[in-house]
Amino acid sequence: YGALYVVATPIGNLDDLTARAAHVLGNVALIAVEDTRHSGRLLRHFGVERPLMSLHEHNEHFRIAQIAACLERGEDVALISDAGTPLISDPGFLLVRALREAGHRIIPIPGACALIAALSASGLPTDSFSFHGFLPAKSSARRSRLEMLAKRPETLVFYESPHRIRHTLKDIEGICGERRVVLARELTKTFETFLEGAPAQLQSLMERDPDQSRGEFVVMLEGADSTHDETAVNVEGQRLVDAMIAE
Ligand code: SAM
Repeated sequence: YGALYVVATPIGNLDDLTARAAHVLGNVALIAVEDTRHSGRLLRHFGVERPLMSLHEHNEHFRIAQIAACLERGEDVALISDAGTPLISDPGFLLVRALREAGHRIIPIPGACALIAALSASGLPTDSFSFHGFLPAKSSARRSRLEMLAKRPETLVFYESPHRIRHTLKDIEGICGERRVVLARELTKTFETFLEGAPAQLQSLMERDPDQSRGEFVVMLEGADSTHDETAVNVEGQRLVDAMIAE
C-alpha cells in the first residue's frame, strides 16, 4: 500500500519549504491541492511536476475513495493546502480521518504553520494555549464565541482576515476588556510586523495607519487568569489614580 503524506508548504517565504517536503512532493504519484492553479505555480517554482488533483471543502467526500484507490494500488499521494500546514483551518480532515479509519499510513511532513510561528515569537505564555481558527464572520456570533472563551486562562489564538481585523478587535475590547493582544501580520513576508497592546490601542493605531490592517493576521490574546498581565495592572493602576484625582 502507498502512504498519504500531509505536507506543509510556505506561508509567504518560499525558502520555508523543507528539503524533505520537496523530496516527497517530487516523488509521489499524485498531489491533492486546494487550488490547482495556485499550487501549480508553487510546485513549478520548486521544479515539481506531478499530477495534481483538486481537494476542497466541496469535493473532499468524493475524493476520499479516489485517493484510497491510489493507495491501494501502491501509489503514494501528497496532500498540500494553499499555504502552511494542511488541516489547520484548511481542508483535509475528512480525508485523513477516513484513511486512518481504513488503516492507511499517514505521514506528516512538518513545516510552516502561521499559528505556531506567531505564538513562538509573541512573548505570550505558550505552556498552555488554545487555537480557535477563524471567529464567526457575523458580529453577534463572534461576540458569543468570545463570551464563551473570555474566562479561559490559557493564551487564545485566532486566524483573521484584513477585512474583519478591526471589527474583531472591537469585539475583543467589548467582551474581554483591557487585555494584552499580540497581532502577527504577514509572517515570513516583507512586511512582517508584530503589534502589541490593549485592543483599543491597536484599533487606534490601525485608524492612524491603515497599512497596519492589511495582510494576513494571527490574533493572540493573553489568557484571563494571567498573574503577570501588565496591561491589567496598568489599567488597575490608572483606575486608582483616576479615583484619587476624583476624590
Ligand atoms: N494552514 C495555514 C497554516 O498552517 O497556518 C492556515 C490557512 S488559513 C485558510 C489562512 C489564515 O492563516 C489567514 O487568514 C491568517 O489568519 C493565517 N495566516 C496564513 N499565513 C499567514 C501569514 N503569513 N501571516 C499571518 N497570518 C497568516
